[in-house]
Amino acid sequence: MNVTLSQPALLKSHSYIGGEWLSATSGQTFAITNPANGEHIIDVADLGAEETTLAVEAAEKAQKPWQALTAKERATLLRRWNQLILENQDDLAKLMTLEQGKPFAEAKGEVAYGASFIDWFADEARRLYGDVIPTFASDRRVLTIKQGIGVVAAITPWNFPIAMITRKAGPALAAGCTIVIKPSDETPLCALALAELAHQAGIPAGVLNVVVGKNAKDIGGVLTANPIVRKLSFTGSTPVGKLLLSQCAQTVKRTSMELGGNAPFIVFDDADLDAAVEGAINSKYRNAGQTCVCANRILVQEGIYDAFAEKLAQRVSSFKTGDGFGEGVNIGPLINPAAISKVEQLVENALSNGAKALIGGSVSQEAGAQFFEPTVLTGVTEEMDIFSNEIFGPVAPLFKFKSEEEAVAMANNTPFGLASYFYSQNLGRIWRVSEALEYGMVGINEGLISSEVAPFGGVKESGSGREGSKYGIDEYVETKYLCMGGL
Ligand code: ADP
Repeated sequence: MNVTLSQPALLKSHSYIGGEWLSATSGQTFAITNPANGEHIIDVADLGAEETTLAVEAAEKAQKPWQALTAKERATLLRRWNQLILENQDDLAKLMTLEQGKPFAEAKGEVAYGASFIDWFADEARRLYGDVIPTFASDRRVLTIKQGIGVVAAITPWNFPIAMITRKAGPALAAGCTIVIKPSDETPLCALALAELAHQAGIPAGVLNVVVGKNAKDIGGVLTANPIVRKLSFTGSTPVGKLLLSQCAQTVKRTSMELGGNAPFIVFDDADLDAAVEGAINSKYRNAGQTCVCANRILVQEGIYDAFAEKLAQRVSSFKTGDGFGEGVNIGPLINPAAISKVEQLVENALSNGAKALIGGSVSQEAGAQFFEPTVLTGVTEEMDIFSNEIFGPVAPLFKFKSEEEAVAMANNTPFGLASYFYSQNLGRIWRVSEALEYGMVGINEGLISSEVAPFGGVKESGSGREGSKYGIDEYVETKYLCMGGL
């Protein structure tokens, strides 16, 4: 690895269980490589079912004492962790660009965004109020208290290697839960660095555990079958989410699922054209299109279609594709060769069925095999594969529509329902379309909507539960009813 960290202790190769750094009992390791150039970064310990059970037991041992701290004491430790993450923003961002590929400036942005969840939930820890309910009998009093659900498991993806962890660990720890995290085996280094900083912040042993391994099925098997684990929070693909839901059913665990999306981005004739182009750029090309809230289908009304397509392609032509550490780079590599093949297939299917590439359309000759050129496709129709598949690459397919009804019907014509966006200046239309879109989130004249203060989550096959905001902590607490009699 030819990147230097200010704090070399943040580069870890072992898993963090019960406050200790453990190797695999099998002695196995696996290589972490840089998606931009295939270079080897480090070998990490390859843990499995046995060590996952140890982590669950460590989390169980730590849970009651952690819950017994006052909310203020837990909040103080969370704030210290938040502070250390921000102090080490550059190092964490370097690790992220190395293992995940996103441009360094974007990686720094994610570190700050990730930390914001810990800061937010440190505050929310102190607002977990119960209720005193007007009684139903004069000799009884009725109240509720809120308690942490217990041991929580988190399974997280590679596209936001820090934020998808803090968005779960922040509320879990704030509520008095302990957590076992299984990060993606593509991006374990960010997760392990977060664990090291939690350790330095003084978060007690066993409260936060990170199990890294290649065998997701085995690790996930323990996390979903072990009755000690009371809740699973998952972010990833819809097929894996469905599998995990069925596994969790055996022990009736609570679940939160942040799954795939197929976000529509609708531009009406009455939109501010420049604002819509900027919004599409922000929503489509962030992380090289590898986010579950990226605009996946850009639906443009016929009167503005050509002008929008031209302006978008013009903006995209200024993009620089390359290694995330390169000066001015805003499109990094895709995560692995399978991601490249998928995007290639979707684009080829569209082009062979009559779509046109205004710009881009293939793997980048200049940047290399892991980079897909930022692309704008016109003449795309609902019959093409790209309409119903999550692209996860820097490709903007432009579909044409005539009426508001048609746009809403096209937007809702998917089993997914995570993020959606539309641009219009008409107040009546803004209300009608906001209410008609079957999505958990709607960006109105805005392409960037994620924030720790707002509830993130989907409907339909995009999942259940909300992360962030005042609602996010509800996923990690049980409401207990106390009835006091004989008064
Ligand atoms: P992505 O396409 O983002 O990689 P996945 O759903 O495949 O989405 O992966 C998200 C997370 O789920 C990763 O941490 C991955 O290792 C994990 N995962 C994949 N398959 C399983 C499984 N069968 N059981 C448990 N975890 C899994």
